[in-house]
Amino acid sequence: MRKEASPTVTGVSRRNFLRTAGAGLLAAQAGETKAAAEASAAEESSVRFAPHEGLMRISSNLYLLRDTCNVYVLKNNDRALLIDFGSGHVLKLLGQIGVTQVEGILHTHHHRDQCQGDGRAVAQHIPIHVPAHERHLFEDAENFWRNRRVFHLYYVRNDFFTLTRNVPVAGVLRDYETFRWGPYEFLIFPTPGHTLGAISLVGQVDGKKVAFSGDVIHSPGKVVNLYELQYQYGSTDGVDFAIFSLDKLREFGPELVCPSHGEPLPAPAVGMTELMGKLRGWYEAYSPGASLTVENKPFAVTPHLVCAHQATSTFYALISDSGKALFLDYGSASNNFFFTLNAATAVKDRMRFVEHTIPELKARYGLKSVDIVMPSHMHDDHLNGFPYLVRHYGPKVWCYENMVDVLQNPRGYNLGCILAEPIKVDRSFRHGETFKWEEFEFTVCHSPGHTEYQMAMFANIDGARVAFTGDAFFPSNIFGGPPVPQLRHNLIFRNWVENDSHVKSIRTILEHQPTLVAPGHGKPFLSNKEDLEDLQQRLEKQQQYFFDVIADPDCNFGLNPTWVRLYPYQLLAKASAASPLELRVRNYRKKPMHLEAGLVLPPGWKATPETVSVDVPADGEGKGGFMLTIPAGWERSRPRVALAADVMADGQYLGQIAEGVVDIEFSA
Ligand SMILES: [Zn+2]
Ligand SMILES: [Zn+2]
Ligand SMILES: [Zn+2]
Repeated sequence: MRKEASPTVTGVSRRNFLRTAGAGLLAAQAGETKAAAEASAAEESSVRFAPHEGLMRISSNLYLLRDTCNVYVLKNNDRALLIDFGSGHVLKLLGQIGVTQVEGILHTHHHRDQCQGDGRAVAQHIPIHVPAHERHLFEDAENFWRNRRVFHLYYVRNDFFTLTRNVPVAGVLRDYETFRWGPYEFLIFPTPGHTLGAISLVGQVDGKKVAFSGDVIHSPGKVVNLYELQYQYGSTDGVDFAIFSLDKLREFGPELVCPSHGEPLPAPAVGMTELMGKLRGWYEAYSPGASLTVENKPFAVTPHLVCAHQATSTFYALISDSGKALFLDYGSASNNFFFTLNAATAVKDRMRFVEHTIPELKARYGLKSVDIVMPSHMHDDHLNGFPYLVRHYGPKVWCYENMVDVLQNPRGYNLGCILAEPIKVDRSFRHGETFKWEEFEFTVCHSPGHTEYQMAMFANIDGARVAFTGDAFFPSNIFGGPPVPQLRHNLIFRNWVENDSHVKSIRTILEHQPTLVAPGHGKPFLSNKEDLEDLQQRLEKQQQYFFDVIADPDCNFGLNPTWVRLYPYQLLAKASAASPLELRVRNYRKKPMHLEAGLVLPPGWKATPETVSVDVPADGEGKGGFMLTIPAGWERSRPRVALAADVMADGQYLGQIAEGVVDIEFSA
């Protein structure tokens, strides 16, 4: 590295002029935007040096510059696409290979060495495309720094290698989609590990299958560092990801791997296998007995019912003689994939999903197509793979009727474990409804308790009477501990629980006399009537505890934090437009309730009417509506704000007992 000799003369003079002459006036005259002027200033301070080497030709249309990271240049006549950008020095060299215009930059991940010069690209209006799950670490980097805790550090993941300034993003690279440019097509392949949102780009270049792989591998048998592969204190969580990603990338059979650090790897399979072996050795030496996600395997419970119990939630594939499958749930590949990716999910993003298990179902269990997917309940650990399945396998989505709106309008609710991506539902079932699919017959029942939005489904499969029970209960020792001959339920108040929810659920399951229980976590187990009845008794006692301990005689008010709520909870609204917002009320009294509510809003916002009156029938639901207007000039620096509802109920001032948030969409 050497000190940059001198910035371009035009660059210096323009920046100085902007400073002294007043950026606004000049911007208007020269058509410059404020963003470009800021980017120009950022360029000045974010790049202090330049790399020594020049462009190196790899094949006729592929070049490499060794900068703070490897910057790859893909040529199409006089146009270029860049994979990663480093300091941006590459822009000064492209003329040497006849490139007159850069049509885009694709980033494999968000580390500063990949993108610290992005300000230079912004100044030249070059569109920057980033991995979908790292978008916030580019365009909202400054917010990341306001919120990233350094004290009490146990989440030791090196997301500290994030840009210090926001970079505008022109496009996002979504997992499993294709990026097309000129004659090139790249599959955007998720390769989490080195970072949790990292991607590889796989496509044909100059007659070879090439993978631009970021920092998945440095050189045969080597990674660039190990510290990026630890997120939680003392864990080997990232090593598990790295092995999984290497395994899947190797299956593509790339003929050339172009890493972000190290040399391009021709015939990379051997070096990838060597690296997987070494990482596995380290993983097993450090965490004896721990299992790797890549080793998870489904098993046949009965000839037609296959269970993947090592996925984060157990999912079931009922595979008919025709090869069509009905999936009950389909979540993340493992607990590590679920909890780790969950912790890294940005406020407005959805948790990342990486495909798993389906190749084994095809190879070993005769799966030909995924025909139907059904959720046992509305939780993300059971639903995370649904949008992927719908996009790539085209199944229909069926569910119990009260889940339809939660799946289709996830922004509507503030309940535990909502998946942040809408899923369109094709068919729904009422309590007690039966249906046929292929050679099987099913009965669907409402099964509240774990959450109001859960079903129990019963079916005769290969001579067994199977109850699919979601997360209603599990054997006591499922998550470790000594075996006790008891079933254990769970209670999460945020999931919408009423005093009789669990009791309703266990009664329904007992009535259907299953011989086999297929739970949402862990392996299926033989049903034992005594255990079910024992649980029923304990659940009846639980109901009594609620009455005993909660002050309000209608104790459901003390169990459900959202009996008064705003819908949608996370409103998406345009500045200067009016958006509907509802106040919804669940009245648990045995008499009607009269409610008045007004919204508490940021300055300049307006709600019509100012207050609503809602009469809610005894033991029933009611709602009132507002139109919310956000002022046209609302600041872009405040894209998400909270609001509250101030409430009077039957003459009693309850105050601001309900709230919601608004995400403001700005017109370009
Ligand atoms: Zn990196
Ligand atoms: Zn679950
Ligand atoms: Zn659940």
